[in-house]
Amino acid sequence: MLRGMNEFDLIAELFAPLAAGYPGALGLKDDVAFLDQRPGLDIVTTVDAMVAGVHFLAKDPAGQIAAKLIRVNLSDLAAKGAAPFAVLLAAAFPRGVSEAWLRAFAQGLAADLKAFNIALIGGDTVATDGPLTLSVTAFGHVERGRALLRSGARAGDTLWVSGTIGDGTLGLRVALGELTDLDSGQRAMLLDRYRLPRPRIDLGARLVGLADAGMDISDGLVQDLGHLCRASGVGATIEAERVPLSEAARAVLRSGQTTLASLLTGGDDYELLFTAPPEAEGAIRALGGVSPIGRVEVGAGVRVRAGGGAVIPIVSGGWSHF
Ligand code: ADP
Ligand code: MG
Repeated sequence: MLRGMNEFDLIAELFAPLAAGYPGALGLKDDVAFLDQRPGLDIVTTVDAMVAGVHFLAKDPAGQIAAKLIRVNLSDLAAKGAAPFAVLLAAAFPRGVSEAWLRAFAQGLAADLKAFNIALIGGDTVATDGPLTLSVTAFGHVERGRALLRSGARAGDTLWVSGTIGDGTLGLRVALGELTDLDSGQRAMLLDRYRLPRPRIDLGARLVGLADAGMDISDGLVQDLGHLCRASGVGATIEAERVPLSEAARAVLRSGQTTLASLLTGGDDYELLFTAPPEAEGAIRALGGVSPIGRVEVGAGVRVRAGGGAVIPIVSGGWSHF
């Protein structure tokens, strides 16, 4: 079905080695896999699909596509405080995909599975006349009953984010050939932030017991915070000047080629957004790489305030709550 390599060779030669460290995968030789249950731990699961031309560019390197596919899922687990242990992969490869492409894809998968110490435990492989379409389902362990949920935020909590915000959306613009006047180091940094999310797995795990609520930021800080607020039945105010920005993002802002509003609503950050009671501030700061950006309030909806207290209007597609 695939040029140069049939589906069974592909699974046996390229994918089965990725299951080697996990007995429950049965070497990808059976119809199912077994999940590793552990006393005192919940198994949490999540799935993300990516389509060429929508979530990545068809010409992106195969290994990089594989890495992003794994990482967007691990980011969801990290946001729950869960440690990943396994993934399933459903792949619809364009008919006629080359063996070299498939090998590079499998190499990218292998590198990330190794880096995160997880196994590929099964999946499905088909050919399509449409665009490359990939879906990963990831599984993780978290202390029973203690996963960080979107619904746990309480009025009075401090709002926190990890890392810097807005680099992903700027990186996409670099990938599309824009922002050419930035220096090359900054362009490379932004591109890397767009192409290779860093799931905040260690941070997420350490937030269990400290944070009240958590999620990862994939569709824009403001929109994702809106989802968290709705799930928790609260409102929130972001203090814009406290939102951490990279040097590169500041440079783009100064040049007038972006606005704070678009950095706060752009996607592909894959940082963590979480809320915690004020008493936890010291312990959370000690984790490093996190910034308080505002407060959870009684009510509903998300407001963004500038330094002087004025509300910054946020207008963004798909977000209708202003
Ligand atoms: P079925 O006939 O039930 O669809 P397959 O022949 O597709 O089964 O799958 C055989 C084995 O290979 C199963 O263990 C399955 O989980 C595994 N497998 C198939 N495709 C993939 C993939 N893309 N990634 C990982 N494992 C896969
Ligand atoms: Mg079967």
